[in-house]
Amino acid sequence: MPGYELFGASERKHVNDVMETGILMRYGFDGPRKGIWKAKELEQAINNVFGSKYAQLVSSGTAALTTALSALGIGYGDEVIMPSFTFVASFEAVLSVGAVPVMVDIDDTLTLDPEAVRKAITPQTKCIMPVHMCGSMADLDALQAICKEHKLILLEDACQSIGARYKGKYLGTIGDAGTFSFDFVKTITCAEGGVVLTNREDVYISSDGYSDHGHDHKGVDRGADLHPFIGYNYRISELHAAVGLAQVQRLQEFLATQRKNHGALKAILAQVPEISFRRIPDPSGDSCTFISWFLPSQEITEAVVAELKAQNVLAGNFYWFNNNWHYIRKWDHLKQSLTLNALHPDLKAAVIHHATKDFAASDAIMNRCISTAISLTWTEEQIKEKGEKIVQAVKKVLAQQKATV
Ligand SMILES: *Cc1c(COP(=O)(O)O)cnc(C)c1O
Repeated sequence: MPGYELFGASERKHVNDVMETGILMRYGFDGPRKGIWKAKELEQAINNVFGSKYAQLVSSGTAALTTALSALGIGYGDEVIMPSFTFVASFEAVLSVGAVPVMVDIDDTLTLDPEAVRKAITPQTKCIMPVHMCGSMADLDALQAICKEHKLILLEDACQSIGARYKGKYLGTIGDAGTFSFDFVKTITCAEGGVVLTNREDVYISSDGYSDHGHDHKGVDRGADLHPFIGYNYRISELHAAVGLAQVQRLQEFLATQRKNHGALKAILAQVPEISFRRIPDPSGDSCTFISWFLPSQEITEAVVAELKAQNVLAGNFYWFNNNWHYIRKWDHLKQSLTLNALHPDLKAAVIHHATKDFAASDAIMNRCISTAISLTWTEEQIKEKGEKIVQAVKKVLAQQKATV
């Protein structure tokens, strides 16, 4: 997830355009801004690149999720089905609108298991929120069928999978709404920012108002705007949008490099029969920000991760090692519902209930999974060296295992 790896002249140029007018805000100041509208331009560019009808920029991916949930009418007591493996922001957004995050198991796609989703549906279920983790996708055909059958909303958290596609369409543009994050470690970045994508005009109009204090943006100036509903300030600044504009124009270049580097590393790992790979519902659509692979057991996986760490090769296991952000196993704050403000007791009980269920099926996948981030700056030699180190580490651990059996 490497947008920051390739900052250069175009990012600087777009930021300087804004600095020259001094208008850092995305709305108003029509005269002094001298035709510079970076946020508007970026929204246009996003629609052009991804094929969405509408794009609403906001201040972060978390804000995009919160805005999308609100615009989709999800609120107090509604249940949102989401995966046990995601980033904490996904459930933060659900909680922030008063809804209940209903975690369910993932499968070997590392995203929602459609059967687990079916089993979790109740009369309170309002939305299914797949999270397209680590650059690749959930089984969207299966999830869309469930949404259709049960009249549920599909909200795609595509924050980690900018540029990935499913059957020809970009992730984030397939559900009722989708979100990207442009935070500092995402595929394209603007430091802090995010976007709500949608093909629904009603969702767009609500997102536009919600992210700017409920302004309807129809007044002759901001003071004359009406407020059809209560909103918040999740605006993006012109400076952030300027960086994003440069980055989105470089997306295809980033993706091509990612795919090349991913392919080269995968070819090396595939030589080891004990290594298997994440199932990808549409392999040609993988954005290849990560390579996610499995070993035969938790024991072997732990030993390999330790070996790689000793050799300074970055390869994370989201289940066990040094990562408290992405998997339910380490979310004690959610399991205890440790919010700063009081939740309604019913809501609190529901949150705790759903966060403390049995996730054995997810554990059995996550405790054998290693995810390696793909860098844009690797040389062919570096990929070869890294791949060989991983292969040697796996072979060493497998040999030790055999010797002790
Ligand atoms: C990064 C991320 C977010 C939130 O994005 P921010 O811009 O950091 O707020 C949400 N969901 C997932 C899956 C993410 O990886």
